[in-house]
Amino acid sequence: MKHLKLTDVQQKKFLEPNHIHKKTIEITRDDGSKLSLPAFRVQYNNARGPYKGGIRYHPQADEDEVKALAALMAIKTAVVNIPFGGSKGGIQVNPKELSKKEVEAISRAYVRAFVDNIGPDIDVPAPDVNTNPDIMAWMRDEYEKATETYAPAVITGKPLSYGGSVGRDTATARGAFFILQELVEREGFDPKELRVVIQGFGNAGAHMAENLHGAGYTIVAISDSHGGIYGEEGLDPVRIAKYKKKTGSVSGEYCEGSVCDIEKMKMDNVRQVSNEELLELPCDILIPAALDSVITEKNADKIHAKIVLEIANGPTTPEADAILDKKKIKVVPDVLTNAGGVTVSYFEWSQGKSGEQWTESQVDDELKRIMIDAYREVSREAHREKLTYRQAAFVVGLKRIVEAMKVRGWL
Ligand code: NAD
Repeated sequence: MKHLKLTDVQQKKFLEPNHIHKKTIEITRDDGSKLSLPAFRVQYNNARGPYKGGIRYHPQADEDEVKALAALMAIKTAVVNIPFGGSKGGIQVNPKELSKKEVEAISRAYVRAFVDNIGPDIDVPAPDVNTNPDIMAWMRDEYEKATETYAPAVITGKPLSYGGSVGRDTATARGAFFILQELVEREGFDPKELRVVIQGFGNAGAHMAENLHGAGYTIVAISDSHGGIYGEEGLDPVRIAKYKKKTGSVSGEYCEGSVCDIEKMKMDNVRQVSNEELLELPCDILIPAALDSVITEKNADKIHAKIVLEIANGPTTPEADAILDKKKIKVVPDVLTNAGGVTVSYFEWSQGKSGEQWTESQVDDELKRIMIDAYREVSREAHREKLTYRQAAFVVGLKRIVEAMKVRGWL
């Protein structure tokens, strides 16, 4: 905050979200009973453009969580310098306990509840935890019905057949890959000599593994919620993805549940590792791409990587951050690393507004330019002010928001 040179009054104004919208949405369940659910939309800051942020369906989604995530979205869009603010939404529900019809009903009810608060130039939602392109399609449809408008830009993360953008499904990993490539080149490392460990093999982790494997990095360990596998000589993520699809787990080539083919593992020189052990393996680059708060004061000291690339949101606790900094481990923060997703959402929004349809290479080229520019800006700030990359990313983002707020006379 001291880098922003704000008065106390300005700081207070800056730290408060612009709007906290809370509603109770009600649907009729398949059995005819009524279900009432708390729903939120927190609009943190729109000095730089329309609010932008996902909607999550989760039993723990509450005002505080949504508020914190909305603030992070404002920082993230500012770090990559796309013309959006930050917001977040949520419904407090476990969607796994609902039928598909009921999930559609809560999605449409959410849009009706917040129809006056969202819009292509006001606030543009997107998928988040437990929400997906189908849900975005229902939401766009409900918004267009309620407002009697054609509004493909009201929401992003839509299916390709209904206003989505090519490259959105791979965007987060691709953006993180561009950042890592830039860092590796600047440090003078050779990708072929770098060993990578990835925690999480979902949308982001699996695509990242594929990108890195293709560029010659050696992926030595990969995990999912069932645990992981370690192979000192390198793993093939394409093969792992094939077996995961078939068996549901990254060690599916060797194990069925807890029963493993030890001979085959020995032959391929691989072994099973727990998710805790995985983080502490010898490697050059550690990529948390699953859950938050996995690197803590308990294990930070045992991390051997030179670089921690945060694809997951909030994988490192503040205590662990301080330990990693002392160990001179470079942590590339989530607000920079995983901003490729919201960046391609911006491309989708632009396409929705203009009626244009971008090609895959247009998306890829523009994503690369934006991610590398953001990396360079953060790196410059870090070196100039002797900050960690996380501190520098926050300074870069916050400065841009403050400048826009000042221009508008809000500060
Ligand atoms: P996903 O649901 O597709 O995949 C999550 C992966 O984590 C799965 O492989 C799952 O098995 C694994 N996992 C779950 N529990 C685990 C555990 N205890 N240990 C190890 N692995 C575990 O999710 P995703 O979209 O790949 O997102 C991963 C992370 O990246 C999340 O923190 C998310 O917030 C962040 N992120 C994703 C995007 C995106 O566009 N996908 C954008 C920004 C940030």
